[in-house]
Amino acid sequence: MHDPNCIFCKIVTGEIPSRKVFEDDLILAFHDINPITPVHLLMIPKAHLNSLSHAQESDAPALGRIMAVAGRLAREQGADDGFRLIVNTGRVGQQEVMHVHAHILGGKEPLGPMLPRRRA
Ligand code: AMP
Ligand code: ZN
Repeated sequence: MHDPNCIFCKIVTGEIPSRKVFEDDLILAFHDINPITPVHLLMIPKAHLNSLSHAQESDAPALGRIMAVAGRLAREQGADDGFRLIVNTGRVGQQEVMHVHAHILGGKEPLGPMLPRRRA
């Protein structure tokens, strides 16, 4: 369930401290140590999973819980008018920590465009 060499597993076990904002049986959410927006949280399944590329049907409860809880956590932290949920995945997605995590990015001001705007 935990990978002894994984920093996010160490956050789950408490070996590495974090600023937790939410925890239940399946997932944990905490402040990113190097925030790039006024609200920058990370949400992770408690069980180790390398990336979204490795997800299986059995991961659906934890991954679904992340989606279901993200909006409430964003609001509670002050991102009350929208946010962005990002899951960097693998080499192409420039994932740095190999324990799947969703970034909640928000604040008071709109974020820059992430996807190219379609022309009318
Ligand atoms: P990614 O590039 O999607 O893999 O993002 C990894 C994120 O984890 C980065 O935004 C880091 O700032 C964040 N991070 C790394 N170590 C820690 C830590 N110990 N506590 C909180 N956030 C961390
Ligand atoms: Zn892990």
